[in-house]
Amino acid sequence: MASPFNLRQQEQKIESKIVVALERVSEAFRVLLWNESKESTLSPIQIQLLIFLLFHSEEKCKVSYLAQEFNMTKATISDSVRTMLGKGLVVKTSDSVDTRSFIISLTTEGKAVAKKASSFANAIEKPLNKLSDEQKQTMLSSLLKLIHELNQAGIITIQRMCFSCAHHQFSDGTHYCNLLKSKLANEDLRLDCTEHQLAG
Ligand code: SF4
Repeated sequence: MASPFNLRQQEQKIESKIVVALERVSEAFRVLLWNESKESTLSPIQIQLLIFLLFHSEEKCKVSYLAQEFNMTKATISDSVRTMLGKGLVVKTSDSVDTRSFIISLTTEGKAVAKKASSFANAIEKPLNKLSDEQKQTMLSSLLKLIHELNQAGIITIQRMCFSCAHHQFSDGTHYCNLLKSKLANEDLRLDCTEHQLAG
């Protein structure tokens, strides 16, 4: 049976081994997030939302954007926001531009909880320090390509990366940002850029 989890297929296809390796890494994220969740008595999605709110600008901190970001329904995000409002971790303010929607922001307590929770994946960063610079660059550029392809295939939604940005240009084997007016080496390519503008 054709499946990356089929052990015989894995013996013959490096792509299958990579898929299973990525699944193992995603399991590490799941375990670490779950540990943080037990400690803070918040659900995994509530923790992810708090971390997102901590690091992103207010136009992205709205239920509809968050639903797309986390590939969830607006109703699910609204439920989580309601719980966090009840716990005094976030507040809602009317959006002066779009009066039908609200901006969700962290309270002082919410910021403290988000800051602590934002280190939940540090254990995954640690072993990456042991890779050579070349290995890290190869890994980053392969992952960026993979994420871009998954986005193009409609499997994951919003991506604020160079490959999907209107300011990105690639010619003669060189990446260039027309906004920053600068060449981008592989390690400069961004995964989550504040200046990202979706290419039309
Ligand atoms: S604006 Fe940001 S995402 Fe867009 S090309 Fe420049 S660095 Fe990349």
